[in-house]
Amino acid sequence: MLRLDEVLPGVQEEVNRRIHALPPALMQVAFSEAVIDSRLATSECLFVALRGERVDGHEFLADAAARGARGALVRRSKVSSLTLERPYVVIDPVTGEGLERATPDTMLLIAVDDPQAALNRLAAYHRGMYNPVVIGITGSVGKTSTKEVTAGVLQRSFRTLKSPRSYNSEATLPIVLLKLTADHQVAVLEMGMYGPGEIAHLAALARPRLGIVTNVGPSHLERMGSIEAIQRAKSELPQALPEDGFAILNIDDPRVRAMAEVTRARPFFYGLDPAADLWADAIESRGLQGVSFRVHYQGDGLHLTLPLLGRHSVHTALAAASAGLLLGMEWEAIIAGLRSEGAQLRLLAVPGINQTTLIDDTYNASPASMQAALNLLAELDGRRIAILGDMLELGSIEEEAHRMVGARAAEVAQILIAVGQRARWIANEAQQAGLPADQVYAVDDNDAAAHLARNLLAPGDFVLIKGSRGMFMETIVSQLQAHR
Ligand code: ATP
Ligand code: MG
Repeated sequence: MLRLDEVLPGVQEEVNRRIHALPPALMQVAFSEAVIDSRLATSECLFVALRGERVDGHEFLADAAARGARGALVRRSKVSSLTLERPYVVIDPVTGEGLERATPDTMLLIAVDDPQAALNRLAAYHRGMYNPVVIGITGSVGKTSTKEVTAGVLQRSFRTLKSPRSYNSEATLPIVLLKLTADHQVAVLEMGMYGPGEIAHLAALARPRLGIVTNVGPSHLERMGSIEAIQRAKSELPQALPEDGFAILNIDDPRVRAMAEVTRARPFFYGLDPAADLWADAIESRGLQGVSFRVHYQGDGLHLTLPLLGRHSVHTALAAASAGLLLGMEWEAIIAGLRSEGAQLRLLAVPGINQTTLIDDTYNASPASMQAALNLLAELDGRRIAILGDMLELGSIEEEAHRMVGARAAEVAQILIAVGQRARWIANEAQQAGLPADQVYAVDDNDAAAHLARNLLAPGDFVLIKGSRGMFMETIVSQLQAHR
């Protein structure tokens, strides 16, 4: 719950006096939450109009108003050109001027120079009022998976706030922080990276005590220039941790392991290397049944069977268990959390048309996650079809990365449908690696892929569908799903 005096950024004496001199009805003004997507606006919310890459949030202010938003943080320069169908007052955040004209039904437009900066200040201020243990999660691949499983574990023992979906950016992380209440004991926050300094900025707002780094890979290589630059950017999370914090690091990734050198916090390593604090061996992945493995901690061994899919999910589980152990949880509760529905993951098996099984991994793709998904497909008994789309933003390693996927696809799948221009390298390499030419298709778009697949699918087939976010391959899944 956000209060009006919190929203007015200049909470100095003078402003406070003015606010407290307001009619009591207005002092009760509180927002249930802040939203940046007008479609999520509710009658109690504060709509924050941000300028995105493609659109300006001010264009959706009328929509937020129509949905009854109680207030909005808007850019001062936009105020004069606004047309809203609801009564509103424009409020100066420093002087509080305008508030005196508001009634409980008026929309409160708080006019600031820069709504993003105001949102940041608000989130930092709000965060400062509470004292939960914040766990930041970053890495090139597996942030959301790790966030979901970690929250699934921690909520067994703590009242836990977690980032919704992939809310991990400068625009969305403050929104998550504003959901903090006095009730939360723990907050599990995903932290994404679009450039150097961004994770440092997110960490300054969220002030994590625990930080998990999953791996450093070539996702966003195009934008970042080099893998070293990506490593440096991800290092900003361990660098931001306090002395009494813990850097939870994947020991199997040398670039993550090295982050122990740049943090004041104590490192806690997890992975498959027996030198780690928490490590696993005897891994068995049984397709859609899940994984089993042995975990080792402080000399004890324990056998676990989990409903997480794919060998790579062992690392996800270990990262989550590390957070649980460091917060003093017992194994029994940790295991219950790892098995819970709360630990719901990205990669999903759904029934497809004609008694097939679709493996919907369309949320995103990178070289590491393509390999992980193909490894899972390899474990399934039946005819295996891979529908693979472009991996975007890979820069100089683009062709090589697609070819490596093609080589693995040839080992795993009986039929390959490559979607998009870059995916032609996948198709080409798969053929060179021995997949018969009449089992390899290269198409330009999702509709063509779905049309082709509809004609090919036979009972018992397993179909993996995966590509970068920008490929929107979920449209293929929706066309191949049973009982749509
Ligand atoms: P984004 O940057 O898009 O938010 P993310 O880092 O949150 O991505 P997830 O959404 O958790 O990543 O996972 C992306 C893909 O990577 C999924 O296909 C998931 O199954 C796979 N994945 C998760 N963890 C690993 C891992 N350790 N190794 C390889 N693939 C993984
Ligand atoms: Mg994510």
